[in-house]
Formats: sequence, structure tokens, C-alpha cells
Amino acid sequence: MNVTHLECSLCGLRHEARKLQNLCTECGKPLLVRYDLRAAGQTLYPQTLKQRESSLWRYREVLPVDDWANVVSFGEGWTPLLSASAVATKLDKPVTLYIKDEGQNPTQSFKARGMTAAISMAKELGVRKVAVPSAGNAAGAMAAYAARAGMEAFIFMPADTPRANIIECEQTGANVTLVDGLITDCGKIVAERKDAEGWFDVSTLKEPYRVEGKKTMGYELAEQLNWELPDVILYPTGGGTGLIGMWKAFDEMEAMGWIGSKRPKMISVQSATCAPIVRAFHAGERFAAEFENAATVASGLRVPKAIGDFLILDAIRASEGTAVAVTDEELVAAVKEIGALTGIFTAPEGAACLPALRKLIEDGFIEGGETVVIFNTGAGVKYLECFEE
Ligand SMILES: *Cc1c(COP(=O)(O)O)cnc(C)c1O
Repeated sequence: MNVTHLECSLCGLRHEARKLQNLCTECGKPLLVRYDLRAAGQTLYPQTLKQRESSLWRYREVLPVDDWANVVSFGEGWTPLLSASAVATKLDKPVTLYIKDEGQNPTQSFKARGMTAAISMAKELGVRKVAVPSAGNAAGAMAAYAARAGMEAFIFMPADTPRANIIECEQTGANVTLVDGLITDCGKIVAERKDAEGWFDVSTLKEPYRVEGKKTMGYELAEQLNWELPDVILYPTGGGTGLIGMWKAFDEMEAMGWIGSKRPKMISVQSATCAPIVRAFHAGERFAAEFENAATVASGLRVPKAIGDFLILDAIRASEGTAVAVTDEELVAAVKEIGALTGIFTAPEGAACLPALRKLIEDGFIEGGETVVIFNTGAGVKYLECFEE
């Protein structure tokens, strides 16, 4: 195991690694896992990966689990990077377009990546009961991984979460509470009750390991593109865990000598009716204020306030990227456009990247000739309500 310690992402305070904990004890911001990358690189390098399993655990040297027996897995990750040239031909500039199809993960979204890491670590550290506030897919993933680990799961979701998410949690044995409010209201309930109930809080970025699972998207992208990162990444952003994770992965790979210092432009995509990151980015702010009356059918994007806001905004700026909002009408229409052209039935969150890409081409941010990757973060089949006439 190559973990050296956990480090506060804002104040830098060092925290002990082999201990159950949530946020920085000084400033209340997210903790990030730090590794001895020199040691990791002894056995993990591009050539050794060829023989590894087709799951994100192929990168085990840069993942936090100590005892292999504690890994709780359904074979998540190592999703295909699919060419989307049929979509690219409909754009006004020539780009090489790929879709990283995260809808092919267990529980049909990339939340499986975070949960395999979080639940494996919870198991390793002796947790029996886990709780999470969720906009939808995180709940489904946590319920499944908790059931597989033999843990009790407590889930708090907005009452208008897509039906599929509610049903999958119930059918995999979780205790589900529907809340008349947003994910932030659900988070408050978990925070208030967790100590009395003995729950470990698995909220995104309030727990140090989900981001480790999600960072593997960055490793996979590099590996699948033969260690040449794309020019542009479009990422539908809620809590921002995947974007923050990929940014961390790029630095780790550079430290191990696998890639150079060039980074993709990171583009955060949000719904116009819940766009705290887009608003803060264009206002030049480092922290994003809560977005009032947040609403969008792309439930994974319905996060009015993200605890990792500064990490998202720092990464976007360091990458010379930007943040783009699209309307719900645009993102729902894009599901069908992508579906008809590529055969991929995307989640509305992932589809939002297409109208965002069009806007970037229109305003000249994308000039033509770039390699562009869209993250389809989930599967459209979980959002049937969106497509009912
Ligand atoms: C959770 C979720 C998102 C947002 O992911 P973050 O990493 O939290 O920003 C996007 N799309 C889908 C389908 C999701 O479930």
C-alpha cells in the first residue's frame, strides 16, 4: 500500500491515513489521499498495465485499499472510449470526438467508481452502517456496494429523484428516505443524525475515497489514448468529484513520468437552472455561492452548492478551460441526437456536453482540429421520466 497520508485540499494540514474520517479537522474542507508515487511506479507503469484486469482496480498501486480481500467490486471502470465521429460531422468545426461511456458501469453510472473505493475503504476501516445524501445515482451505487459488503445503507434523496434510482435502492436492501427538498437538505439530515445513529457519512468529497475511485477516469483516458491526453474534456458537473479526480490523476501520472505537463482544457458543463460553478467561474470567484431555486431534469447536476467548488474552479482555470450552461430543453434534445447518431442512450447529464460543445465552437473557444472527449456519466434508461411526452 502506497498511501502516505491524507492532506487538506485547502490548508494543506496533514492527517493520518489509516483512520476513519471525513473533512479537515482545522478548516472543514475535503481531504485528498497522497501516495508514495515513487514506490507505486515500481510495479505500476504503462507496460505492466497490459496484463491487468479490465476494471479500475488495474491501477491498484494508486488506490487506497491495503488488504486486497477488502475490495468490494462488480468489475467497475475500464469503460470504452467510443468514437463519436457521426456527431462530429454535424458540428461547424472539425474535431476528433470521443464519448467516454460511463453508462456501462455497474449500476449504470460512474458513481460506481467512487463507491467501489469508498465502500472498500469503509470495510477495511470497520464500518457497519453507511449513509449518503444523493441526487440519484450515488444512492443506487452506494446501495449496491453496501449490500455486497454486507453493510446497512441509509439513503436520503429528494422526493422527485428519478424513479429508477429510488427503486434500485429499495431492491438492493437500502433504507430509503425521500426528502421534500434538494440534495443539500438531504446532506443536512445525514450530518445531524450520523453520530447518534452510528452512520459513516459517504457524501461526495466529505469522504476522502470516492474521488480516488473517480480519478481513474483520468488514468483510463491517458491509457486509452496511448498516453496522449485529449485537448478538451467536457464534464457535466454536480459535486465535481470526477473533474477534481481526473485533475489529480494527471498530476500523479506526470509525477510517475507517464505524461508531460500538457493538460486538457477542462470544461465544466451545467444546467442553466442550476449553474453555481458557471456563475462563479465567470464572476472570477474562487468559491461558488449556493444557486437559488436549483432545478433540472439532469438530476446529477442538481447540486446547488458543492463543497469542492474551489477545487473545480482552480482546475478549470489552471487548465485554461471554461464553464458553460445549457438549458434543460437543449440537453434533453441532445440525448436523442446523440442516440440516433451513435447508438449510445446517454444520461441527460452526459448529453448536456453536446450543446455545450456547440456553444464553444460558436464563440471560437474551440477552433477546430482538437481532440475532444465528452463524458457520458450515466445511462439514459434510468431517466424514463425525461422522455415521456
Ligand atoms: C453525479 C452525476 C454527475 C455529476 O458528477 P460529479 O462528479 O459529482 O460532478 C453527472 N452525471 C451523472 C449521471 C451523475 O450521476
